[in-house]
Amino acid sequence: MKKSRKLFAIFGDPVSHSISPRMHNYAFKGLGIDACYTRYRLEDGQKLREKFLSLNLSGINITVPHKEAAFQACDEIKGIAREIEAVNTIVNTNGQLIGYNTDAPGFLESAFRFGEIGSVCIIGAGGTARAIAAAFKEKGVTVTLLNRSENRLTYFKDRGYNVYSWQTWEDDTFDLVVNTTSAGLLSNDLPAPVTILRPLLKRAKYAIDVVYNKETPFLSLAKELGIPSKDGSEMLLFQGVLAFEHFTGHKYPKEQITILMQKAFD
Ligand code: NDP
Repeated sequence: MKKSRKLFAIFGDPVSHSISPRMHNYAFKGLGIDACYTRYRLEDGQKLREKFLSLNLSGINITVPHKEAAFQACDEIKGIAREIEAVNTIVNTNGQLIGYNTDAPGFLESAFRFGEIGSVCIIGAGGTARAIAAAFKEKGVTVTLLNRSENRLTYFKDRGYNVYSWQTWEDDTFDLVVNTTSAGLLSNDLPAPVTILRPLLKRAKYAIDVVYNKETPFLSLAKELGIPSKDGSEMLLFQGVLAFEHFTGHKYPKEQITILMQKAFD
C-alpha cells in the first residue's frame, strides 16, 4: 500500500454484513481520493482506542455493540454525540480522536423528507432510540417513547420525555411512528402488540423502521393501512454521507457524495 494512502474502517461485532466499506470506497474512488475503507471485527470495546491507533487509521465508523465504548475512547466529543453519549464516527485529527454521532442527523434528514413533523412516537428504548429522541428534541419536536419493558425507559423519563411501557400505554396521535427495536429483524414480530400498533399507525402521517433492506411486519402493517413508510436504508446512507464529510474535512459537495454512496445500495 502506498504511504500516502489513508485508511478507514468500520469497527463492530458482527461486522461482516456492513455495507459501509462499499459506500465509502465508492465515494473515495469517485472523488479521486487515495483512501481505502475496510472492516474490523472488534470483540472487546475496551480495546477500541488501542486498535484504532495501532492500525494507523485516519477515521472509523462504529456499529453495534461499541458505540458507547467509542464515546469513552475519544479525546473530544462534538455535537449531539455529547447528549446521546454514543459515537458512531471517529476522526483522527493530529493524533487526537474526535467523536461524532451521525446516526441522529442522518435519521432526521431521512424523516424530514416526508414533510413537517411536530410529534413522534419512538418504539424501543435502546441506543438508536436515544439518538433519534435527542435529535428530534433539539428540533423542538414532541417525543414519546413506547417500550416493551420499563427498565430502559428511566433514561428517557429522567430527560423529560413522555414514556410508556406496553402496560401503561395511552392511545394518542403522532405525525411519525418510528420502530427502533430489532423486532422484525431476526424474528417476524411486531415491535408492540397489534392492539396498540394498529390504532397508532392508522392515525399517523408517516412510519419509519430503522431496520434496512427488509420489509418488517411493522412496515407491512403501515403499508396495509396506507401510511407512507420507509425502511432504514436512507438513514444508513445519510449517516454515511455525514461521516464521509467529517473524514474528508467537508471539502466535497454533499450531493456528489450521496450519489456515489447510493451505488452501494443498487
Ligand atoms: P438496542 O439493543 O440498544 O435496543 C433494543 C430495543 O429493542 C430495546 O428497547 C428492546 O426492548 C427492544 N426490543 C428488542 N426485541 C424486541 C421485541 N421482540 N419486541 C419488542 N421490543 C423489542 O438496539 P439498538 O438501538 O442499538 O438497535 C436497534 C436496531 O436499529 C437494530 O435492528 C439496528 O440494526 C438498527 N439500526 C439501524 C441503523 C441504520 O442506519 N439504519 C443505525 C443504527 C441501528 P426491551 O428494553 O424491553 O428489551
